[in-house]
Amino acid sequence: MSKYYKYDIKPKLPIQVIKGGTKLMTCGMSFKVDLYSGCEHDCCYCYAKHLVTIYSKWKKDPMKLNLKLLEQMFVDAFENNRKGQIYDLMRNRFALRAGSLTDNFQEADLKYKVGLKLLELLDKYDYPCIINTKGIIITKPDYLKLLKRLAKKQLVIVQYSLISLNEGLLKELEPGAPPPKERLKALKTLADNGIPTQIRIAPFIPWVTINCEDLIKEAKKVECKAIIVEFLRIPPKKPNEEKSTNEIIYNATKKVYGKNINLWKRYQKEGGKLHRGYMKFPFEKRLKIYLKLKELIEKEGMDFYVCNELKPDLNEKPFDCACCCGVENYKGFKNFNTASSNKIYKMLKEKGKISLNDVKKNLKSLDWNLFEKQWDKGVYEDLLYKCKKEYHQGKIIYSNL
Ligand code: SF4
Repeated sequence: MSKYYKYDIKPKLPIQVIKGGTKLMTCGMSFKVDLYSGCEHDCCYCYAKHLVTIYSKWKKDPMKLNLKLLEQMFVDAFENNRKGQIYDLMRNRFALRAGSLTDNFQEADLKYKVGLKLLELLDKYDYPCIINTKGIIITKPDYLKLLKRLAKKQLVIVQYSLISLNEGLLKELEPGAPPPKERLKALKTLADNGIPTQIRIAPFIPWVTINCEDLIKEAKKVECKAIIVEFLRIPPKKPNEEKSTNEIIYNATKKVYGKNINLWKRYQKEGGKLHRGYMKFPFEKRLKIYLKLKELIEKEGMDFYVCNELKPDLNEKPFDCACCCGVENYKGFKNFNTASSNKIYKMLKEKGKISLNDVKKNLKSLDWNLFEKQWDKGVYEDLLYKCKKEYHQGKIIYSNL
């Protein structure tokens, strides 16, 4: 068994609204369920690992606690009518994202079975969920049986993270994760059993994940419905970190491609800047790559989405997209966090200016209190392309230039 990363900032409850950063404002699926406090896949670019490393605190197995809590949360929401924000959201079946800070379907689940329990609960309470994983155990009979039942009710989408087909490269970047061929095989098994699937090229790493055309063709072969692309944001090295993301990629590219690629420097050379604690590839250059990938993906008959981007209208084709995971295609996904970038940007483009009242009248938020606070801070100036905050009768409104 691979090593586990343990840390003690475990969630109080396994199901939570993502309240940190600006996720609530950008993401339609910011209601999450994380059942482990670590991940054997050990990806060098993992944002969760990066956050946790800052605290340098790792603890032992917290998983049983979450299993009991998980079950109790569903019972409290649906049988005990318990009061509280999370329980209200659950009773309204706001869609969950399974796997935000960890992978709930890593191999360890064969032993601990919390991921399996989650599927049972989703099925029992007819609860919609997107599963984000690199794990292949979900094609085992116990898991598959439940996924099939959920898919029949249009309550599940499985998203596989797959950034490249290059096995050697992935061994360096995601040493504990199943090889790409096994993930593709799992995707095909899921599709053959009627379970809708998507691939996340997340992160897309310029100069490193260079075989996207082949990956797109393979995705088509395994009947994947959509591909979601998200650029790598490079975290700076922390004092207590053995090797930074940049160093791992630097060494990996020497091994795999025969030359070191210093991404940090390349990002800077292209005009990239540190933004909210990460080195980011410049937006105009990201946009060019997105458009090329969009064309390739749509040519193969799949949907293309960008995640957490300044111009979410890239997601508008082929339908009025409210969420970068395309959940509105599935009738089981009735409620999700529509008060987020996609819809807000669309409203801005249509109306020119929008107020908090416009948003509240038309959209749904997981947490209006937090939304209002962030709205008043002017965060959308930073999150949406050419969006400006203004004051109207003492209140903040946003306009699109
Ligand atoms: S699979 Fe996801 S949660 Fe696990 S290490 Fe990789 S990026 Fe992190």
